[in-house]
Amino acid sequence: MATGDRTPRPPVRMCVRCQVTTEAPVAVGAVHQNSGPGFTVYACQACAAHYPPQPDVLTVLLPSRRAEGDE
Ligand SMILES: [Zn+2]
Repeated sequence: MATGDRTPRPPVRMCVRCQVTTEAPVAVGAVHQNSGPGFTVYACQACAAHYPPQPDVLTVLLPSRRAEGDE
């Protein structure tokens, strides 16, 4: 019963800065998580100009150091 609704959609992404969906997203960074795969952070054309070309702009380094002394 489901009709083939195959409307070609542009790759719409939401801008991480102004929270507006854009049809021309620009990858401005990538978030890496310990659990599960990371995801790419997109910004619109206007906001992308405010982001420096960093590979990991939103990566948070968690203090996950373990003491190797196990007594
Ligand atoms: Zn934006």
